[in-house]
Amino acid sequence: MSFDLRDLYQQTIIDHNKSPRNYGKMEDSTHRAEGHNPLCGDQIELFLKIDDGKVTDVKFVGKGCAISTASASLLTEEIKGKTVEEVRELFDKFHQMLTRDNPEEAFAAGEELGKLVVFAGVAEYPARIKCATLAWHALMAALENKDQPVSTE
Ligand code: ZN
Repeated sequence: MSFDLRDLYQQTIIDHNKSPRNYGKMEDSTHRAEGHNPLCGDQIELFLKIDDGKVTDVKFVGKGCAISTASASLLTEEIKGKTVEEVRELFDKFHQMLTRDNPEEAFAAGEELGKLVVFAGVAEYPARIKCATLAWHALMAALENKDQPVSTE
């Protein structure tokens, strides 16, 4: 992993934190969930529109650290247009990438994750993994249509 590439990943996270994509509430969502990461104070509310087994629209609101906001923003870009099945597979791969012990392995595992690979570096900072996965846990809760807010703890 070159420093240039790491720098590029860092820039992507900074950019998505400054200008989160698909930010805002959705009035006519079919699925919705809230997530909270008490360790860092990150909060998110995620809205989904699912039609015929496919995510046709997704939005979020929330406040938190740069990693949690950028992760939610990139999540919305990556899952739009995917089937619920594909979204679950993506969650599994994303989670696996972040729980590698070795950062080089995490980057290798992230290669098939498109833009989400920018979070591979988070695997080196266990305290920040929950920041990166918060939006994803909210997403899984939304798919289950759970009424209870999810917590990363
Ligand atoms: Zn955080």
